[in-house]
Amino acid sequence: MILGQPGEPLRAAELAVPEPGPGQVRVRVKACAVCRTDLHVVDGELPGPKLPLVPGHEIVGVVEALGAGATRFAPGRRVGVPWLGWTCGECAWCRSGRENLCERARFTGHTLDGGYAEHALADERFCFPLPDAFDDVSAAPLMCAGLIGYRSLVKAGDARRLGLYGFGAAAHIVAQVARWQGREVYAFTRPGDTAAQGFARALGAAWAGGSDEPPPAALDAAILFAPVGALLPLALKAVTRGGTVVCGGIHMSDIPSFPYALLWEERTVCSVANLTRRDGEEFLALAPRVPVRTETQVFTLEQANEALERLRSGRLQGAAVLVP
Ligand SMILES: [Zn+2]
Ligand SMILES: [Zn+2]
Repeated sequence: MILGQPGEPLRAAELAVPEPGPGQVRVRVKACAVCRTDLHVVDGELPGPKLPLVPGHEIVGVVEALGAGATRFAPGRRVGVPWLGWTCGECAWCRSGRENLCERARFTGHTLDGGYAEHALADERFCFPLPDAFDDVSAAPLMCAGLIGYRSLVKAGDARRLGLYGFGAAAHIVAQVARWQGREVYAFTRPGDTAAQGFARALGAAWAGGSDEPPPAALDAAILFAPVGALLPLALKAVTRGGTVVCGGIHMSDIPSFPYALLWEERTVCSVANLTRRDGEEFLALAPRVPVRTETQVFTLEQANEALERLRSGRLQGAAVLVP
């Protein structure tokens, strides 16, 4: 599926089978999960997409061809391809363990073609071997909802009472990891979304309610997965002194002004940008131990626009996954 121009629906296209360049692998796509970032790309909310573009950055596929010098994965090997598609390896960020901030980074399904297709190319250095415990569809949401959710959870520090705003693909994974780590999870959904609240409780949340409700106890940290800037002051109000609010998404509507008293007492606000390969290695080692169980809804490739619309309107439980 191809994005011709932001703001237009994706259109089906017959794509030539791409030839892998030096250091690249070509994978036959088995599954590609749908991320909220894909909606931001399709809606034109992220600057600088490659156009036309094949979206999708939560790819599970099987290596079927190797470019010159590619030796890491044998043909037939299953790999995951994440959002971080390439980094320069030379800049100050890359050399200090923060390749997620590389100024020249390229991103799968944004500045590189992604996985809403039968085939995808990827730099072998940025692919992950996947644990056998997950089938193709179950593994796909790990590649972003899981990885970047995990990075957000690490940013929340050792918070015991953890709030999650927006209980979609990322939160449903993070909730399981957080519970396994012995934390208490407080889930905030769209007001009145009793289905999502029930889903959160079934995954072990101590409390679930609308984002307009105060939690029954002060939180030590909160992670915002919903792209709604107005939630930030609410989350600050819900965290105790010294607490942290982590913004886990790549884009958010504007944050309204709020009194300094909400930030006072050493509360912290931070964002999470992209991922490092180390995040991926840590999370993929952890996920089978929890074990994380992903809730998925499968769509065909041709149903990509419908999957995106369901994500937009909140009519999804867990993650949408496209299967070619
Ligand atoms: Zn760099
Ligand atoms: Zn994503």
